[in-house]
Amino acid sequence: MVLQYLIIRTQWDNILKFAMPASSLCDAHNNCAEKCFKYIKQDDWVTSGKLGSREAVLVFRTNILNPKTRKTLLETTPEQVKLKNVEATSTQSGVVLEKAMSSAICKTNATIGQAYVSVEKSPNSNDLRNPVKKLHGSFSSCDTSVSSDGDETVQYNEKKPRVQQKNRNAAIVEIEVNLNKESGYNSIPATQFNTGSNTSEEDQEASSEEDKECGINMPAHQLQITYKFIQTETKLLRKIFNVHGLTEVQGESNFNLLWTGVHMKLDTLRNLALYQRVNHFPRSYELTRKDRLYKNIERMQHLRGMKHFDIVPQSFILPLESRDLLFAHNKHRGPWIVKPAASSRGRGIFIVNSPDQIPQDEQVLVSKYIVDPLCIDGHKCDLRVYVLVTSFDPLIIYLYEEGIVRLATVRYDRNADNLWNPCMHLCNYSINKYHSDYIRSSDAQDEDVGHKWTLSALLRHLKLQGCDTHLLMLNIEDLIIKAVLACAQTIISACRMFVPNANNCFELYGFDILIDNTLKPWLLEVNLSPSMGVDSPLDTKVKACLVTDLLTCVGIPAFSPEMRSHYNSKSSQIRSSSCHRQVDTTESGIAIRSTKTKKKTFGLIQLTQEEQRILRSARLQYSRRGGFVRIFPTDDTMQRYGHFLDSANGIPISTPNVQGQTFQTLVTQHNYNQMLHSNLYCLGSRSLKDDNCQENRIRQYERALETDSEIPFLKKQIVEKCEEEGRRLRKQLLKKIGSGSTLTHFQARQTFSLYLESVLRRLTQDPKDSHEKIILKFLNRYGGGVKPPVLFRNTLNVSKARSAMVAKLLGDFLELYKRDTEAYVDSFDHFGMIPTSAYSLFLIHAQESDLEAVLTHHTNVTGIMPFLYNRCGLSVPPTPPIPSGLHGFLRALPAMVSASGFSRDVSKYDGYFKSCDKNLEDVHDISLRSRSTRDFK
Ligand code: ADP
Repeated sequence: MVLQYLIIRTQWDNILKFAMPASSLCDAHNNCAEKCFKYIKQDDWVTSGKLGSREAVLVFRTNILNPKTRKTLLETTPEQVKLKNVEATSTQSGVVLEKAMSSAICKTNATIGQAYVSVEKSPNSNDLRNPVKKLHGSFSSCDTSVSSDGDETVQYNEKKPRVQQKNRNAAIVEIEVNLNKESGYNSIPATQFNTGSNTSEEDQEASSEEDKECGINMPAHQLQITYKFIQTETKLLRKIFNVHGLTEVQGESNFNLLWTGVHMKLDTLRNLALYQRVNHFPRSYELTRKDRLYKNIERMQHLRGMKHFDIVPQSFILPLESRDLLFAHNKHRGPWIVKPAASSRGRGIFIVNSPDQIPQDEQVLVSKYIVDPLCIDGHKCDLRVYVLVTSFDPLIIYLYEEGIVRLATVRYDRNADNLWNPCMHLCNYSINKYHSDYIRSSDAQDEDVGHKWTLSALLRHLKLQGCDTHLLMLNIEDLIIKAVLACAQTIISACRMFVPNANNCFELYGFDILIDNTLKPWLLEVNLSPSMGVDSPLDTKVKACLVTDLLTCVGIPAFSPEMRSHYNSKSSQIRSSSCHRQVDTTESGIAIRSTKTKKKTFGLIQLTQEEQRILRSARLQYSRRGGFVRIFPTDDTMQRYGHFLDSANGIPISTPNVQGQTFQTLVTQHNYNQMLHSNLYCLGSRSLKDDNCQENRIRQYERALETDSEIPFLKKQIVEKCEEEGRRLRKQLLKKIGSGSTLTHFQARQTFSLYLESVLRRLTQDPKDSHEKIILKFLNRYGGGVKPPVLFRNTLNVSKARSAMVAKLLGDFLELYKRDTEAYVDSFDHFGMIPTSAYSLFLIHAQESDLEAVLTHHTNVTGIMPFLYNRCGLSVPPTPPIPSGLHGFLRALPAMVSASGFSRDVSKYDGYFKSCDKNLEDVHDISLRSRSTRDFK
């Protein structure tokens, strides 16, 4: 055994010797490594390679989010024998093997052409033995084999045991050996796990200062790793980045990680250096725009047969395909669900019984409404699952083990009279959260409580009812893979044109799936930037685990500033010589020369440097996958999907004329999908237990997500208001306005959005019919992307559902409005304007009535409406006089918007607005009578 180990180690050292970097870079690496070795326990935070090596990437964990477990986490646990970084440099791998040899139960299997070591845990520590909890600690690295050149290929296959109740994030690419107590292993005390301790969540959430302080000790901080946000929800992400030591940069500064909520600019993509990561692929809209997605899948239905791609409800893009829709309607009848092509979060969606109820003036996607959805306790539900694509060629897709099930608040009823009710037919959280019957679970452990469940809880629930959850999950995997295959071709060609390095892009997609009552999953849409907002402890748990696992799996290179500047200059040289993707030869390791032996042992064809890099990178990534389940490739990928790929280059083919032609002429001949699949699953690897097999994947989906410490719920910060102070400041302000001072655009917009926020809160707590009508009238006139989502049939009676819908519309409006307000930020004190600091203080303490008083007075005195119009705005309507008194401003609101956009939508809300108009006329009457503003002084 020792002899075999020595052979393996020598081979390993040789491989790595060949793989050494170019000398210029070596210095940078060594400097960095020297510096970084000073860090305490840096090994815990860096994996896949020794710090200073090009493969080293940062590790992200959830338990560091909890200030109480931070301390423990940063201390060593002597009882545990942990061996880290198995994929590291020669010395490290030597140590790994040495320890593995001495204390683990090792299986060494060396033949002339093949040697692999597998370290196995004792049989009673099976990671899958607990059927209820998701036990992944787990960056299991059973697939981290490295093939080498020479006469022998070393396949190092380490089996990473999953330990019951194992610290989810504590072990990164590690081998825990000798799991039985006699050999010194102590299981982690149960108290460390999230067993629902009584600690208040508020106590646990650290301030951002504390987060940053924690970050200072992390390797990422020392390495000056930076991140940048563009138009994205940031609270959870920022917290995770900060505690891990990453620093936020803005503007033109260089970054290591760019996280944007919108599509990438091609220029940004083109200029990416080797170490930079961005969270989108170019042309991802092929998947994430509802109309594009449908067209891509429809094309596959024609090309490959409906039976293979019957994964989306039949849809039509209007007005272009109105005739086809009519034809389909005459054949099958409605109902139909109408969705604006590029919208999300239920915005603008409504359901109709017949196509003549659909307005013809804008582009919408009309889909067959699935009338028999799966219901939980009578409530319609749908799924949000998280899909990570780390590469399109070869295609590598992961599905996160946990997803979110969203339930509609109102019990489902097929009756057509109820089609207007969004809280019965749409499951979006953003719609249902405003319903007064909506129940939020208040404990992260409650996974099947209220209107948001976890995927694993749903699967367990269905299983108890005798449903075939195994088949359901396989069908969901299949649906995801097919949707990606349908769109991949365009994305691959965009990557070739615009992305300079293979690992620059990754993407987390939010797949929305509806399951019907026969358990068939239907793809509704794919979200470009799935929400990372957290509104409950359960949400926080799932999303924090998702983000940390995502970042570790994707791998943010742990490069030092020296290494980065080396690659910055290198990529600018490359850019000046070619715009196409470059293969970094220094990164690729050595070429496999001796095909003879390989053929003899595995039937391998010679791997190019790029292929070796891809293979190695895929294996390392798999070893860091945490809670991500790789669904492509798997062992049966080629059997199931091989015929959708071009036989020569492996690219998924979705256009008939391109097959075997255009693509091949554009790119060098290779077939990365085939190569990866054969190396992972066909060549000798088959003899090893495949931990990615169907059974294991399904079991992983069914287990509850377990964390080793509570993840603090990131609540919105609520400022303590002082009513008296608010009133005092309001008096001062009104005086100032009366004597000629004005609000800046920014101040006016801030006031208006805070005011509407108060109205929104009031509407959800104590719905008022008349106020809802006013808000609707205002929003309908205002237009600008905020449209009522349903027909208002039968809604003249006040109902909780209608209140919820109005609140949702106002919420949507506010979101867009606040985003626009950012463009007006102005912290200078201008002459004749209200001083910024005094105004900010007022905003902190102001109640709804204070805000209303200021807005009213300012509008009446100045005669302008800076909260709605800017200086150079066209078609600004005359400023209406605002009646004094409670809610006067609110009642005058619709009159502040020009009625030009009104006619277009009026037919939809006919009956409803007749009563509304009467109110509005009253407002005009009142306002003409009372121009006085005295009451507010
Ligand atoms: P959005 O991006 O605006 O959320 P979705 O396509 O996800 O739009 O649909 C919103 C909601 O509408 C979903 O939660 C689902 O419950 C419902 N829905 C969408 N399409 C259909 C359909 N074809 N049949 C039945 N319900 C649907």
